[in-house]
Amino acid sequence: MALETYECAYCEDEFAAHPDARAAETKYCSPECETESRDL
Ligand SMILES: [Zn+2]
Repeated sequence: MALETYECAYCEDEFAAHPDARAAETKYCSPECETESRDL
């Protein structure tokens, strides 16, 4: 199964994630970015 490239909604880094993965849905490259974004 192919990975797709997404751009992190927080740090704008590109990252590869499986389309079915939670990261593809949330658009964060890491849990850290998700946490930081929610703190804003
Ligand atoms: Zn990020």
